[in-house]
Amino acid sequence: MAFESLSEKLQNVFKNLRGKGRLTEADVAAALKEVKMALLEADVNFKVVKNFIKSVQERAIGQDVMSSLTPGQMVIKIVNEEMVKLMGSETTEIAFKPGNEITVIMMCGLQGAGKTTTTAKLAGKFKTKGKKPLLVACDIYRPAAIEQLQINGNKQGVPVFTMGDKHKPVNIAKAAIEHAAKNNMNVVILDTAGRLHIDEDMMNELIEIKENVSVYQTILVVDAMTGQDAVNVSEMFNDKIGIDGVILTKLDGDTRGGAALSIRAVTGKPILYTGVGEKLSDLEQFYPDRMASRILG
Ligand code: GDP
Repeated sequence: MAFESLSEKLQNVFKNLRGKGRLTEADVAAALKEVKMALLEADVNFKVVKNFIKSVQERAIGQDVMSSLTPGQMVIKIVNEEMVKLMGSETTEIAFKPGNEITVIMMCGLQGAGKTTTTAKLAGKFKTKGKKPLLVACDIYRPAAIEQLQINGNKQGVPVFTMGDKHKPVNIAKAAIEHAAKNNMNVVILDTAGRLHIDEDMMNELIEIKENVSVYQTILVVDAMTGQDAVNVSEMFNDKIGIDGVILTKLDGDTRGGAALSIRAVTGKPILYTGVGEKLSDLEQFYPDRMASRILG
């Protein structure tokens, strides 16, 4: 299970609290110190941890204890609520244009994050919602990328638009939108090129697409297993090109959970979905409350 170590540590901290009928301020302080350590070890961003602990502390001290809860349970409840808040509270849906207008979604992310796989996973989700998606191969640099998208598109029963690797991505995107309009498709998903690291060329290419095509949603794909790097990458993409949301992949292999907890707080942008495996059906909507419950056990 994802986050097992964080989850286990927090449950140990709370086991002590639960047993106590009355809590002193020192009990709360000691417990929160352990919560802080557990979050830092889980690779949650340092500033996020600091603010989180501060919010819990303020509430735990100021709060009248509800008569139905022991003080220990009260602290756990506050930690849970603050954790949900940290992840954005609400589930965020990907926004579509009204009616049958074409919604253009630009997928971006570093190479290996799972962008091409996730693009196909998303197309499947849209299809079940009654949308008519078109996948577009804008990654003209990685030789296998076009073919990979075609294979995954076929598996999902979703058409894939490609122009090979001799055209500029922005022109491929424009042609794809025309193709979608002619063929009565209403969601165009652009699979753009990633690089191993953030570089100017990649960013400029994405900016060029955004400036010339009416991209309605920009979605960043990041790998949860890279922890704080995933958060830094999200922050940089958001600063440079502006993103509407994040899809966090490989949560099935992420034992720490730091990225899931920090991304919203650092970027202000919601996690939309999580990738939980390699199969095309392994994409789940992100629910902050369920995630907090999973972490806190
Ligand atoms: P891209 O370079 O960003 O387009 O990445 P790919 O889509 O090619 O994915 C890179 C690798 O990560 C592939 O082996 C995928 O099967 C794998 N992958 C993608 N998403 C997930 C996920 O949610 N969980 C797991 N375990 N593997 C994933």
